[in-house]
Amino acid sequence: MSAAATLHRIPRHPHAWLAWAAASQLLVLLLWWRLGWTWGLPALLLTHAAFIVPVFLPRVRLYAPVVTRLPAAGRQVWLTIDDGPSDDTPAILEALARHGARATFFLVGERALARPELVTAILEAGHEVANHTHTHPQFRFWALGPRAMAEEVGQAQRTLAALAGSAPRWFRAVAGHTNPFVAAPLRAHRLTRVAWTTRGYDAVDGDPVRVLQRLRRGLRPGAIVLLHEGARHGRSVELVEAALCLLREQGYATVIPD
Ligand SMILES: [Zn+2]
Repeated sequence: MSAAATLHRIPRHPHAWLAWAAASQLLVLLLWWRLGWTWGLPALLLTHAAFIVPVFLPRVRLYAPVVTRLPAAGRQVWLTIDDGPSDDTPAILEALARHGARATFFLVGERALARPELVTAILEAGHEVANHTHTHPQFRFWALGPRAMAEEVGQAQRTLAALAGSAPRWFRAVAGHTNPFVAAPLRAHRLTRVAWTTRGYDAVDGDPVRVLQRLRRGLRPGAIVLLHEGARHGRSVELVEAALCLLREQGYATVIPD
């Protein structure tokens, strides 16, 4: 199987979770009826947890398929940079050029709309842009209903397609969360959800030593590396530069999957 085929994970059955939910509650009813509440109640709580916990687990595919690494890569990684465009974008582009690295920028639609020249600069430098929602609702993304979710994905997709001249292929969920309503818009826009193999929590931690330590742990051939720009601590450029040095040191090249 080619790398492209295994990475192409557009949701095919956005409502499959409904069948699982119905089956699990039938099982709960059956247990309660045959064995009483001492079995029924724990089963009820466990089955509910089984549908709630995955919302917060970025690499679990209950609600939508997800790419967590590149298949069978040599000493290559996929560098992904979230949350732009930002004031950091030009300096990050310079750093990438200096290191001969390529990256996929997961952009926020409304930020791209406000600074279209940065989207052009990213593309002209040979990088790729992808969908990271329209408004980046940090604390309520996981709780969006079907209509709001469709808007977040769809508006970003239309904005980025118009600015970039072609529609993005990849989607990264805010904080990696999912819910029962994320798969339908991904399917409608032919988007594949992309998580990561390794991250350094560089969006919240500005300390390069700690960030690199965490990144290094998950670094392996085919890793998807998650970095951010525009972090509030103001050190994103420095952290991207440090990550690029780490990759070079360990002999990794960066690739954008076809
Ligand atoms: Zn983000």
